[in-house]
Parts: sequence; C-alpha cells; structure tokens
Amino acid sequence: KLSNNSISVSKVRVIVRVRPFLAHEISARNSDPVSSCISVLDQDLESSQEEVAVYLKDPQTSRNECYQLDSFFGQECNNVGQIFSREVSPMIPGIFDGCNATVFAYGATGSGKTYTMQGTEEQPGLMSLAMWRILSICKSTGSTAKISYYEVYMDRCYDLLEVKAKEISVWDDKDGQIHLRGLSQVPINTMPEFQEVFSCGVQRRKVAHTGLNDVSSRSHGVLVISVSTPSADGTGTIVSGKLNLIDLAGNEDNRRTCNEGIRLQESAKINQSLFALSNVIYALNNNKQRVPYRESKLTRILQDSLGGTSRALMVACLNPGEYQESVHTVSLAARSRHV
Ligand code: ADP
Ligand code: MG
Repeated sequence: KLSNNSISVSKVRVIVRVRPFLAHEISARNSDPVSSCISVLDQDLESSQEEVAVYLKDPQTSRNECYQLDSFFGQECNNVGQIFSREVSPMIPGIFDGCNATVFAYGATGSGKTYTMQGTEEQPGLMSLAMWRILSICKSTGSTAKISYYEVYMDRCYDLLEVKAKEISVWDDKDGQIHLRGLSQVPINTMPEFQEVFSCGVQRRKVAHTGLNDVSSRSHGVLVISVSTPSADGTGTIVSGKLNLIDLAGNEDNRRTCNEGIRLQESAKINQSLFALSNVIYALNNNKQRVPYRESKLTRILQDSLGGTSRALMVACLNPGEYQESVHTVSLAARSRHV
C-alpha cells in the first residue's frame, strides 16, 4: 500500500486528469483495441488518500514509469463537476476571506485543457463552475464580483475584454506589488452576464493575432474572478481576494514537433514560462527560501496568488493514446510537486 500515512505537505496540489478517447480516435484504429497508456494503482476516491501512483506504459517496450501525484481523475470522470467539487470548490471560501487562489490546466495540445477550464455548453468547465459558485456565495455575503480576462503570448499581456485585445503593461510598485496597468474589470451579477462577457473574450482570443494560426493554444489564457466583501466587523473595510483560472499554453517537445521560425520562438517562450512555473511550484512545495517568481512574465504576474496564504492547484491533462507526450507532462508535474 502506498504511503497512506505519510502526510502530504504540498502547497500546490498537482493532480492528473486523463481524457477519454474521442470517437475519431477509436474509429481510426479500425479493429485495433484502444487502450490507455495511463493507469493508477488502487486509488480510493472515497477515502482522503494523500498520494496516488500513476503509471505510464510504453506501448513499444511495455515498460512502466511511475510518478507520485496528489490525485487522479480517470477517463470515466467525464463530468467536470467531479473535479470541481473535489478540488476547486474547497478553494473558494478562502477568497471571501481575502486569500487568493490559482487553478492551472497544464498539458500538451489536445490533452483536454480547454475542455477542463472552459468546457462546453453541455459540460461547463471549471471557469463557469467557479463563477457560479462565487455568485451564489456573493448573494448571501453581500460581496461583489468582477472579472478580468487576458492572455500572455510571447511574454506580452493582452486584455481580452477590450474591443481590440489591447496590450497592457506590467509593473511593480514600490511595495513590490504587481499591477497590470489599465486591465479591464467587468462587474458580474449573474451567469448570463458572465457568459456574454466571457464568450466575447474567448472570441477575441481566437482572432487577436492576425496572420498567426491557433494562437489560443500557444498562449496562456487567464480569467481572474475578483471578489470584494464588506468585512464582518462593520467598520466598512473591504476584504478582497481573487481566483485565477488559467488555460496554459500547450507544452511541446521541440525534438518531436520540428518547429522552426516563429513557431520555434513561441515554443521556446512557452517552455520557458512553463519551466519557470514548475520551478516556482517546486520551491513553494519544498519550502525553499527563494521562490524564482521573476523568471517569467507569467510567474511574476501570479506572484500574489502563489505561495503565502494562497492556494493553488495544477491539473495535468493527458491524452490516453499519447505515451511520450504524457511522460513529458507528468514528469514535469511530478517534479514540481516533489517533496
Ligand atoms: P487542449 O485545450 O488541451 O488543446 P481540448 O480541451 O481542446 O485540448 O481537447 C481536445 C479534444 O478532446 C476536444 O475535442 C475536446 O472536446 C475533447 N475532450 C477533452 N477532454 C474531454 C473529456 N474529458 N471528455 C470528452 N471530450 C474531451
Ligand atoms: Mg486548448
């Protein structure tokens, strides 16, 4: 039995989500059976197990690689609500007490990051589910919620709630606080309001960079839900907290994708920022004195929402038919978590 009694001290939870095979992936195999290269050793979702062992099986050699992570959501967990209620919902009350929180979806292109964060009409993602939960708490506490939505592409930030996806500058004030100068914040009172504002932003993200294809999977998309709560002591002070929900750019292995030109530059920036993020999580989880926030734009921006009293969750998304890619994703996820 795996270290059931060892107490996990990770401050950033790192979990795995494997998406199901898609209809076209099954039909493309003709009569070959489709089997997942990812499995997990006797996880008991009902008990609060501290750690799971995830196995990745090389289809060529049948050898297994094993990685330790905080939790595992298999192909049958096709309801994002499961991940939401177990992992994200518990992070939300803290935001009303002034703590920040961050949820990342990490993985290769096609592994299910956008499905997990943004979802579809039938299957709302973590972004809508979190908004819905926050709005329902706002009703009972008299708090107000606002959203911002921006993307980080090639280390530059673009406001997606502005008509033309305006570039915004990032600066540190004298207290070391990070500011995104002029970033729009839109008050949200109802889910239809959210859906309208957010879907405009999503549309903008798709068309923001003319001439470049598919930037939306090559940039980090960040939705920020900020909450202001009148403090309970009646002094009129306002407590503010925020939740960052991030659909990270797809990580890729340049040796396999043979990128060149702009693609290679993009890819280098993406890998650099994902590596920086992993270094920050590693430093936090291992109580390092120095946390290297300044190594990328993304970690600099998130400095006030990672570490300290903040809570964070990284969802490593996997395609069950991609062994090499999954090893790439899970090894970085496990390395960040390592304690
Ligand atoms: P990514 O954002 O990582 O590139 P997507 O979220 O776009 O990947 O997912 C790739 C494809 O797989 C999409 O067609 C998406 O609808 C589908 N998909 C991803 N996750 C799931 C899931 N859990 N259940 C069903 N379909 C999924
Ligand atoms: Mg995507």
